[in-house]
Parts: sequence; C-alpha cells; structure tokens
Amino acid sequence: VPPERIRNFSIIAHIDHGKSTIADRLLEMTDTVAQRDMQAQLLDGMDLERERGITIKLNSARMNFTSKKDGETYVLNLIDTPGHVDFSYEVSRSLAACEGALLVVDASQGVEAQTLANVYLALENDLEIVPVLNKIDLPAADCDRVAQEIEDVLGLDASEAVQCSAKAGIGMEDILEDIVRLVPPPRVPVEGEPLRALIFDSYFDTYRGVVVVFRVFDGEVNVGDKIELMNTGAKYDVLELGVMKPNKIPVKTLRPGDVGYCVAGIKAVKDARVGDTITLVKHRAEKALAGYSEAIPMVYCGLFPTDTDRYNDLRDALEKLQLNDASLNYEPEVSSAMGFGFRCGFLGLLHMEVVQERLEREYDLDLITTAPSVVYHVYMANGDMLTVANPAELPDAAGRDRIEEPFVKLELFTPKEYVGSLMELATQRRGEYIDMTFLSQDRTCLRYDIPLGEVVTDFFDQLKSRSKGYASMEYKFNEYRENDLVRLDVMINGEVAEPLATITHRSKAYGIGRGLVDKLKELIPRQQFKIPIQAAIGNKVIASTQLSAMRKDVLAKCYGGDISRKKKLLKKQAAGKKRMKAFGKVEISQEAFMAVLQID
Ligand code: GDP
Ligand code: MG
Repeated sequence: VPPERIRNFSIIAHIDHGKSTIADRLLEMTDTVAQRDMQAQLLDGMDLERERGITIKLNSARMNFTSKKDGETYVLNLIDTPGHVDFSYEVSRSLAACEGALLVVDASQGVEAQTLANVYLALENDLEIVPVLNKIDLPAADCDRVAQEIEDVLGLDASEAVQCSAKAGIGMEDILEDIVRLVPPPRVPVEGEPLRALIFDSYFDTYRGVVVVFRVFDGEVNVGDKIELMNTGAKYDVLELGVMKPNKIPVKTLRPGDVGYCVAGIKAVKDARVGDTITLVKHRAEKALAGYSEAIPMVYCGLFPTDTDRYNDLRDALEKLQLNDASLNYEPEVSSAMGFGFRCGFLGLLHMEVVQERLEREYDLDLITTAPSVVYHVYMANGDMLTVANPAELPDAAGRDRIEEPFVKLELFTPKEYVGSLMELATQRRGEYIDMTFLSQDRTCLRYDIPLGEVVTDFFDQLKSRSKGYASMEYKFNEYRENDLVRLDVMINGEVAEPLATITHRSKAYGIGRGLVDKLKELIPRQQFKIPIQAAIGNKVIASTQLSAMRKDVLAKCYGGDISRKKKLLKKQAAGKKRMKAFGKVEISQEAFMAVLQID
C-alpha cells in the first residue's frame, strides 16, 4: 500500500468515555474481525483488563477501509491507548507512532481531566485531533453543550464532530471517513533512505521471546535482514515480521508508515527498549529517531514473596514483566522483618495494584506489598543529598539538614455542587489553592499545588465518593519543596515493624499515629497473649493501644448453621492466611500493611 493510503491513528479519551467500545465497532465495521470472533473489548487482551474494564497495555490493529467518498481502499492502523492517569507513559509512546488522534468525548459527561491531559500529549506530538461525541443514545447526552466545552476548554473546533454511539453502532462509518479525510498520511518516503523504525511497545512471549512492536518511518525492513537497535547497539537477524489484525499475520516486508511487529530471537530484556530506533546493519541510519520521555516512577513500595523460597521466581517474574511494562522499576531490598524482596517503582497506585495482581496471576506468586511511598530528597548536615523511597530508611533527625517532598499540580474537574467538599478534601491533604475556572455553567476546574504523597494515598477514592463519581482528576509533577516531615515508626509487641513506617508532615503525625494504631488493632488477629501496638517519632511514643488476648473464632458467627457455610468460612480464612508475614510472634496480613491508607 502506498503511504498516501495509510492512516496511523490513536484513540484518546477520558476513562469510560468509550475508546475500547469504539475500537471494537471499528474492527467489526471493517470486517477485520469476524462477528463470531468478536468479544467485547477485543483489544483489551489481558484478563485483568477485561475484569476491570480498563485498558492497561496499548494494543494495535490494522484495518482495511474502502471510503465511499473516493472509492479508494485505505489501511488504517489503530493503536488503542489506556486512559488512566497512571498510564500516560503508554499513551505518549503510542502517540509518537501516529499522525492523528481520534478524541472521544462522552456527550453525557463532557471534557474531563484526562481528556485535557491526553489532548496536551497529542498536541505535543503534533497530531491532528479528530473529535467525536460518543454515547448520543443516552438521554443525558447534550451534544451542543459538550461541543462548546471542547471548543472553550481544548480550543478545538467540534462543530463538525461526528455524533456517535458505539453501543448502538451509530456513526461508525462517519468516523472512518473522518479519519481518512482529516488525519494526514505518512510522509512520502525518499528512495534509498536507511531504515528508521520506532519501537513503541515490546513484550515477552513465552514461545517467541521478545516481540517488538514498531512504526516504520523511513526505509524498509525485510525478513532475513540484520537489524541494529541504535541506542543499545544490539544486533539481531529478523526471523519474523508481521502486522496485527489484531492477531499476528506474518508478512515479508514493512515499509514507511507501516505498523508491525518483529521477532528476532531477542532474549535480553534490556536490548529491546521502548523508544529505541531500529536500523539496518548494512545500511545504517545516521541519527536515531527522537525517543520517548523516560517514565519516572512516582510511587514506591516493597514487594516480598510470602514464601521466602520464591525470591528467585519473583526476580524472574519482575524481569519479564518489565519488558511488558517499561514503566516498572525495581531493585533488591533486604529487610530484617521481611527477608529478601524488591523495592519497586510505579507510576501511581493503580499501576502498583495492577503489577501486583499480574505477578500473582501470571507468575503464580503470593506477595506482600508494603504501603506506597513517594521519593523524598533528604539533605544531610554534611551537604550530601539522599533519595529515600523507603520510609524505614529515612536517617534520624540528628544528621539531617532538611527534607524535600515532591509537589504536583493537581486539576480537579467537577460539577459545581461538589466544589465545597472537594476544596475541603484538598485542604485536608495540605493542598494550596491556585484557582478555579468554569468549564460551562455548572462544571468547574479547581487547581491546587499539593504534595504527591497526599495524592497517592486514597485521594482518588475520596474524590469519587465525595462527588458521587462525577469528579475527575489529573496531576503532573511540579517541584520538590522543603517541609517539616517526620518518620512515624510502628512498634508491635515492642519490636519496630519497619515495613509499617511512614513519612508524614509533623502537623499530621499525631492524628495519623492514633489512626494507625487503632486500625492495626482491628486488623491484627488476636493472639493468646496481649500485644501492645505503638506509634512513635524517634524515641517518643505518640499513640498506643493494646490488643487483648483471645483467639478469634470465625465459627462463632455461624450459630451452628449449615455445615457448607462453615466449610466456606474456613476455606476463606485459610485463603486469607496466605498473605501473611510474621513479626516476632505476631502474624500480620496484607491488609495491615496498607493500614495507613485506610485512616481518615
Ligand atoms: P474506555 O474506558 O474509554 O475504553 O471505555 P469503554 O469502551 O470500556 O466503555 C465504558 C463503558 O461505556 C462501557 O460500559 C461501555 O459499554 C459504555 N459505552 C461505550 N460506548 C457507549 C455508547 O455509545 N452508549 C452507551 N450508552 N454506553 C457506551
Ligand atoms: Mg478501554
């Protein structure tokens, strides 16, 4: 196919506005996938994605579309992107491989926080943005209001935007016609140019090894070519090339504008980095394509196997998962209480949960995660600067000069009736008000400077519950700022429980200390002896409580009821036991490690 008949585009949207459903409809419409093979949200291949109804990994699909307007057949490469704030790195990678983006806005909701963030990313990549209004079948849909919002907030003309319903299959063909008409084709290739292809995804396949997904910008690549990955210098023979429809279909050659995959016997994870440029050894490009922005982990936590014998399995699993998820970061950690494990860096809390779940499901591991922490900059009296991502490692006050914590710019989009309650939330979390703008008559955008550490706890859940689900948020790292921060230690049965340490602002330490010991009292099972639970700053105990002795009898609740219910309860308790770690004589559950997130 000549480049003038290729269109490479992404779909961007706020979560739940209908990206995946539109992608499904487009695949059906173009007969890319036969109706009988269609499953809802086909591009969301991971079980976890289907269950949660969110897109985590980006996926691509190639479609053929014959335009009724000019009778020509086009190749449309669709790259689905995740919409959640934690995965904006994945979004930016896929956008760099496209010329255009289909912007989906829910006509019953309007512009939300991630709509705006994704549009910024698309504009940074010089993409043509094609807005569409989805869910027009809903009674609450208000296309005029939302089109006006798109114009006012995003500065895009939405007067001609297709009004569609992915659910009812309305307007899907118009979307494809708009993509052909508005998204620019790839640049016309120059004869004899050396190959340059941008890797925007790579993953580990048990049978083929590393599979690299890329977009060809210049030159061509053939099966049998010797390729070089320009940043690492690694060289491989191309064993298989193909396109995703979305199942892998092998081809012999890929040319400028094409999106495809490559299998080249790549074994080492580090050799196939996302953002690298592929060229040919025999006809090498001078300069690599501009890479992607490096993903910077925002949140860290400790990951430990409950069964210490499985440390090596966890290491192998992390190594493989990192290939599939370039934004995952990890390094070994040893803790006297927890044994051998890893300190892992994530883009946010959802990312952290997803990684833990994938490790447990895909690699059959049983893990304990410690409460998340941001990265602190600790300046020592002697002038050294330490980065601390594990609260237990915060040096004692004596040697410290000052501590700085990361601040983010936070945007909250909300119907105006929740403004008061959300302002209260932001203030409680040490947010500094910047301003408020009206998006429309009854929707506003609130902006704050706020410590990241206060946002990555349960802020998102609070936002959702205070706004009945209607508010959305987005944040971006801004700067490090000095603050009066302290380490809060927890002692159980007189022993310091390192993994339960947290760093908090001094003004909140007493409240958090109190809440933490009370919460732990609920979460730690009673033993045959009394257990003191204390919170302390340095040597000073600031809150304490005592767990009285007695074994909790789960069967007591059953009032002698039927035996199958009893069995079920016992089974449930046994399953709950798995994620436990012993502290001296006391067993602590996964839930207790997260206790600090549950205080309010
Ligand atoms: P994504 O998060 O942007 O990928 O959104 P999904 O495609 O997963 O859709 C989110 C929810 O909205 C799902 O429950 C869909 O069934 C629903 N949905 C998508 N498109 C439409 C539509 O046109 N009309 C209605 N009523 N619901 C839709
Ligand atoms: Mg989706």
